[in-house]
This record gives sequence, C-alpha cells and structure tokens, in this order.
Amino acid sequence: MNKVVFFTDLQHLHDAVDYFDIKSFNQKKIPVKMHMGETGNKYFPKPELARIVVDELKKNNSQPFLFDTTVAYHGARHSKTGYLQLAHNHGFTMENVGCGVVIDNSGIPTLVEGRTYEVAEHLYSATHIFALTHVKGHIQSGMGGAIKNFGMGGVTKETKIKIHHGSRPIHQKDACTFCGVCAEVCPFNAIKVENDSWTYSEPSCFGCGVCVDNCTHHAMKNQDADMQFLLACSAKACVSGKNVLYLNEVKRIARGCDCDPGAGPIICPDIGYLMAEDPVAIDKASLDLINKVKPNVFEKINKISPLKQIQYGEKIGLGSSSYELIKL
Ligand code: SF4
Ligand code: SF4
Repeated sequence: MNKVVFFTDLQHLHDAVDYFDIKSFNQKKIPVKMHMGETGNKYFPKPELARIVVDELKKNNSQPFLFDTTVAYHGARHSKTGYLQLAHNHGFTMENVGCGVVIDNSGIPTLVEGRTYEVAEHLYSATHIFALTHVKGHIQSGMGGAIKNFGMGGVTKETKIKIHHGSRPIHQKDACTFCGVCAEVCPFNAIKVENDSWTYSEPSCFGCGVCVDNCTHHAMKNQDADMQFLLACSAKACVSGKNVLYLNEVKRIARGCDCDPGAGPIICPDIGYLMAEDPVAIDKASLDLINKVKPNVFEKINKISPLKQIQYGEKIGLGSSSYELIKL
C-alpha cells in the first residue's frame, strides 16, 4: 500500500522526505515542477515554500531547478520570456529560492493509451522529479492536484489545446430534452437553451467538458474523450518510469486554480502538507482530508467530481488510490 505522509508544520519536511527513496536523487538535476503564479492570482505556491524544498534537495546533493511550461492562452505565461519575468516578479529569484527557473515551450511526443502527448523536454529527459503542487479547486477537474500539475502543466501548449478541444461537446439533438442544465453549469456561457433550441458558441467554449458530464440524458458526448481521462493519460506520459516525489500543499484552497486571477473565494480551511511517491494516492488522500472538513465541496462548487481523474489514473496505471496515512 502507498505511504502518504501528512504534516502541518514545514519543519517536518525533512522527516517526511526520510520516508522515501530520496537517496536516489543524489547528484541528479531535479526539476521542481510547480506553478509560479498567474498575473492577479494570489494563491499559488510561494517562493518561501520553494526555498525549503530546494534546500532539502540540496542537502541531498541534488541540483534542483524550478520548472514549468508555457500556457496556451494569451498573457505573460504564453511565452518563455514572459513567464520568466512573471516568476521573477512573484519572487522566484535565485536570491529567494536558491536555484534557477526553467520554462519549457517544446516537448517530446509520448504515446499513452493510443494518443500522443508532448511532454516538456526537461521532464522528458529527467530521471528524477520533485512535484510541488498547490491543491485547490478547478473548473474543469473539480480539484487541481498532482495529476493536474502534470496532466496539463507538464506538456506543451499544443497538447494543452488538444486536450481542451478533445473535451468539447457534440450535441445529439434527438436525445436532448432541452432541460437547460448544460447551459447552467457552463462556466463560460457557451451554451444557450431556449424552448426547444440548443445553441453553442465554439469560440466561447473552454473545452472543460463540464456540460457533457452534467447531461444526465446522454445528449452530449466529448469530441474526443473525457477531459479527466485525457489529463490522467497526459500525466502518465510525463511521469511514467521516473522517480517522482510528490508534495501537495493543501492550503489556500480556493474555488478556482492558480491560472485564474479571480480564483477565490477560499472554500475550505487549510489542511497541511502531504508527501508520497504516487500521484493518484496523494491526490486521493488530499481529497479525503478536504472532504472530511467540507464534504464534496469541489463537486458542489465546480459541478464536476474530482474523483474522476483519480479513478481514470488508477485505471490506466498512473498509480493506486490505496494508501496508508502516516501523520507526523
Ligand atoms: S443537459 Fe443534455 S438534455 Fe439538457 S439541454 Fe443540455 S444537452 Fe439537452
Ligand atoms: S465544454 Fe465547458 S466551456 Fe465548453 S460548452 Fe461545455 S461547459 Fe461550456
């Protein structure tokens, strides 16, 4: 069974690391895969936490660098230079975090479950990775955790677009009751239902797949596949065959993700930190701890079950949701 270590005080980070095979990280270049914040967002992982992780990796003679990829939408993080400048503005400087920042804009095609995902070059070439993930709500996955950190954050913008487009809806008029639920749950007002008319604006559609998920009449299907399945496959493309240590920061749990300038409000009190070697186990443990305090909070607010990505991850062999929680 997977070990998932749970602690609330960062002074325990060293003890948590001791539970795992950190010695194999010795002398290796280690991408610390993390989100360094979108313009206007205030909940992303902070440089102070990155510094603690970097120092811990250096104690083990590793050579860490903070790492992320460019994004598909317009804004500072669309380009390498823009993202590097934003990371600097957010305090991710050599002086503050003790290592450099690398942003990838290109990747290597990797086949998982019949589809190709372009894995960011520095992840593809790494044998060892440290995943620093901020756990929060997410409009397209219910919750954003370790699976999401790689499934969307570890691949090129071309693959990000492909995942989003693959999750767009195809409407099947014959099965539609025109109940309007899909229009109600769409976060981008891309669907309009009036009387017996159903209209859809593709330019407004973000490709989250939430409408398909909420149609109980099976009158919609995804253009390619369920977003949660594609994310789990994409995460597997990034981490399969590698030694990855996952740290989930389950704090500042906002409704939306770190890409969203208006991600608030906070929907659950702070929980703490979890560490594991399995992305499925650590996300399941994070979700279970959150659900204990705020039952089904992500599903209620974001209209999509965060369990789906975990179940798909288990199904395709990304990891296992069985875990033993070790409290420090
Ligand atoms: S939720 Fe399904 S049945 Fe209802 S309007 Fe949308 S497509 Fe039609
Ligand atoms: S995929 Fe998402 S953004 Fe697109 S229509 Fe459906 S709910 Fe709206």
